[in-house]
Amino acid sequence: MSAIATVDNPLLKGQGLPPFADIQPEHVVSAMTQLLAELESELANLEANVTPTWSGLVEPIDRLSERLRWSWGIVGHLMGVKNSPELRTAYETVQPQVVEFYNKFSQSQPLYAAFKALRASETWNTLVDAQKRIVEAAIRDAELSGVGLAGEQRDRFNAIQLELAELTTKFSNNVLDATKAFSLTLTSPDEVEGLPPSWLSLAAQAARAAGEEKATPEIGPWRVTLDFPSYLPFMQHGKRRDLREKLYRAFISRASSGDLDNTPLIEKILQLRREKANLLGFNSYAELSLASKMAPSVDAVETLSEELRRASYDAAKQDLEDLRTFAASKGAPEGSNLQHWDIAFWAERQREEKFAFSAEELRPYFPLPQVLNGLFTLVNKLFGVTVTAADGQAPVWHEDVRYFQIADETGEAIAYFYLDPYSRPAEKRGGAWMDDCIGRAKLTTHEGTVATRKPVAYLVCNQTPPVDGKPSLMTFNEVETLFHEFGHGLQHMLTKVDDAGAAGINNVEWDAVELPSQFMENWCYHRETLMGMAKHYETGETLPEHYYQKLIAARNYMSGSAMLRQLHFGLVDLELHHRYQPGGMETASDVRQRIAKTTTVLPPLPEDAFLCSFGHIFAGGYAAGYYSYKWAEVLSADAFGAFEEAGLDNPQALTETGKRFRNTVLALGGSQHPMDVFKSFRGREPSTEPLLRHSGLAA
Ligand SMILES: [Zn+2]
Repeated sequence: MSAIATVDNPLLKGQGLPPFADIQPEHVVSAMTQLLAELESELANLEANVTPTWSGLVEPIDRLSERLRWSWGIVGHLMGVKNSPELRTAYETVQPQVVEFYNKFSQSQPLYAAFKALRASETWNTLVDAQKRIVEAAIRDAELSGVGLAGEQRDRFNAIQLELAELTTKFSNNVLDATKAFSLTLTSPDEVEGLPPSWLSLAAQAARAAGEEKATPEIGPWRVTLDFPSYLPFMQHGKRRDLREKLYRAFISRASSGDLDNTPLIEKILQLRREKANLLGFNSYAELSLASKMAPSVDAVETLSEELRRASYDAAKQDLEDLRTFAASKGAPEGSNLQHWDIAFWAERQREEKFAFSAEELRPYFPLPQVLNGLFTLVNKLFGVTVTAADGQAPVWHEDVRYFQIADETGEAIAYFYLDPYSRPAEKRGGAWMDDCIGRAKLTTHEGTVATRKPVAYLVCNQTPPVDGKPSLMTFNEVETLFHEFGHGLQHMLTKVDDAGAAGINNVEWDAVELPSQFMENWCYHRETLMGMAKHYETGETLPEHYYQKLIAARNYMSGSAMLRQLHFGLVDLELHHRYQPGGMETASDVRQRIAKTTTVLPPLPEDAFLCSFGHIFAGGYAAGYYSYKWAEVLSADAFGAFEEAGLDNPQALTETGKRFRNTVLALGGSQHPMDVFKSFRGREPSTEPLLRHSGLAA
């Protein structure tokens, strides 16, 4: 690698705003290869000379990981928003080396030993709380990755890790293959009766891709598959009950027989996870999982789940009763005996009748510029910060991307963010997310002056782009998504923590990280906020009151059923990773059926093999962590509850409560345990009452 190439490679700049205009896919491999070589030698050097002090251990680690994060973070970001075959090839070329480096780094014995020495040294008590948490998390994470094991135990641990990686990959491949292996080709119009035009287009396109060259949305044939965008609308709108049943049965038996059977993999995965947990000194994998989460114990999660279960069970039962009555009133012969394949269908019919509006009707009231205005007005009122456009002050990766500045009460800029709002299917990943472009940190320069690096966030959404000269008109759901991601962004941008490792969302426990995001969603239903921004883009007319009432009512439609469903998955996950003994008398499927007795109102069919496709826990990051969805929701609802108690119509009370929220939840980030942060804001431990009340389930 020539010196000139280094100077010219924009991916090696290593600090400041990414020079997006200059970065090309061909920079990736050379930049990362060179960077990793340099970091390897820096790591070796650090391992040889490390001293167990903040400046001799954590600061050099921060510098090292920041260089990797800066360059590789940009590549990862571009993979999400400006994907291309060239970029993907480059990414795949260097990714294994990056992963290998991360592993070496996180399993470094000398660094682990230095962290332990720092923890035991006299200087420990000179560290501030944030620094102590960073050190403790580093020790914990290293131990959870097996660094504290020696000899045979270490070999066994590594062998388990390897086998688990293979098994979970195989699990997820089996689900994919089994999903792909099934399809129905429908040829007569009565078979697709009830399905919306968007689905007919999708199904005709799928048929064409499968060789039915002449397939059209109007006359078919139509191909229905078990992919969610095909499956779900069919279950919701397809009038042919026999076909729904066929699809449903195929769906719940995915990856449960033949070559693609995940049953033995489930046993093996659970057994290896238990063994791994035991090697690390835990009684169960659930205990291992909770060691790095906010929830203090399996007991605590079960207690919370049980409380929510009791509150939602009767409501879910009533939901089913209501649905039966509704179906019967519409003349459905199955009305009194609804089966699994009828629920989504009748729930949609009932929803249409009850709320009688479509997501499309609300779009004209939510043009993006007005929604942003409403959002920025809200955060100004709550948190005292001012958001202003700063377009042109930062290079962007696409002309639609905007750049904003956040200033505090004194007018001083404290953070910035990019907003990439629109869907671009050809190059941008689906979904919405917030990501860290630059993290806050207090840095000492070579000359000895101290400067604060200001945080910068990426906010990425996938909403409808502007068409025909109109602004981007958003669905209410897209508005909620924007508020949600902005909540993550606020925690990243309004942090006051000076140590990079605990600033913003860094070092925040997995089951607490959705607190600020879900909290912000609540404001979409706040009358003043909603009515302040929902104005017709042509006439300026405020959203009619009946729509507002319907939005409020629709929010809790069948909420008992929805909550019970999440609790069912969470409790099955926990039981399998805590008490379940693989190879015993009870199978994993038996466990699920047993838990279903108290967590479902329409029990699963005896042949239901849902676990065989439960990728969240067998192939994703949610093992003994599925409960996090509800855990974080309790926190976010209770946080919003503080504003309700203060008075949603009382500007001064909102400002005071907002300031407290900013100084605790948003400012403290990962510098304190999330329970302590929550208590500083709320003055007590979390209560489930606000979540139950918001869901219409309060006693
Ligand atoms: Zn989120």
